[in-house]
Amino acid sequence: MQLPDLLINSLEGTKGFDKDAFINVHANPESITSIRINPLKWSKQEATTYSRLATPDSLPWSQYGYYLKERPSFTFDPLFHAGCYYVQEASSMFLEQALKQTVDLSKPIKILDLCAAPGGKSTHIQSLISKESVLVSNEVIKSRANILKDNIIKWGTDNVVVTNNDPKDFAKLENYFDVIVVDAPCSGSGLFRRDEEAIDEWSINNVALCCQRQQRILADVWPALKKDGLLIYSTCSYSRQEDEEILDWVNTEFSVGSLQLTVDTSWNITETISATGMHGYRFWPYNVKGEGLFISCFKK
Ligand code: SAM
Repeated sequence: MQLPDLLINSLEGTKGFDKDAFINVHANPESITSIRINPLKWSKQEATTYSRLATPDSLPWSQYGYYLKERPSFTFDPLFHAGCYYVQEASSMFLEQALKQTVDLSKPIKILDLCAAPGGKSTHIQSLISKESVLVSNEVIKSRANILKDNIIKWGTDNVVVTNNDPKDFAKLENYFDVIVVDAPCSGSGLFRRDEEAIDEWSINNVALCCQRQQRILADVWPALKKDGLLIYSTCSYSRQEDEEILDWVNTEFSVGSLQLTVDTSWNITETISATGMHGYRFWPYNVKGEGLFISCFKK
């Protein structure tokens, strides 16, 4: 796997970045498979007897996440088709901590998952919110919205609405949502181990384009968030322009407070502080059993 030199050079000085470890972890990519169980259809007790689990213990930052011993052929597993579990990358499940630590999930809330297809974060949110809450799960690309709809139906809760809108359409719902999750489209360097073709598509120019698009998406949806509402921003990019620099941009453009999360030191997640003092959490694949992720929480 030939990593772009420009990416490696651009990461120098980023907290937690270790050039040799980064190159190594991509040179010998470990195949990590994880699933997140659907508590509505599969009890933890039943799931822990599932012979494919690596250990009976759940993933450290999600009560519903488990590593598998190896990647099976999910197509042949009726439990997969029945929506008993969702195959999801382990780092992404950290969203659970972000939500649990910053929102009272026992209360009815209105939550928007703005960039939701194929549905990893939306199905996770469904398992965390109360029955009285409502999730709007949105995807702007029509073909992807259909996949999202199928996955949402398979998950089986009824307090979800799937929409196929542009982020700017949500501005009309002024001060409406208690929580907005923006799992932004990004340059995708965090998933290079899983998708080697993404390396060919990576360029400094694309990082800059993604950064502009991320700003546009956040600005478009901002009016829909209530005062004191929570915004969770995440990417699967390592580039500071799409991570800490976006936090700084949000901090300069809008009136926000950064929320710090409690992270167990044994999880090996790197907490970063942006130039304007915003907290972010980086998942480096040589420190965690998962892929690259960046996540941050703001209060409006
Ligand atoms: N949250 C999803 C999950 O956990 O399964 C993954 C989301 S993926 C990182 C980003 C999504 O943003 C893609 O589905 C993509 O189609 C969508 N997207 C692309 N351009 C967009 C735009 N301009 N505004 C909003 N969403 C966009």
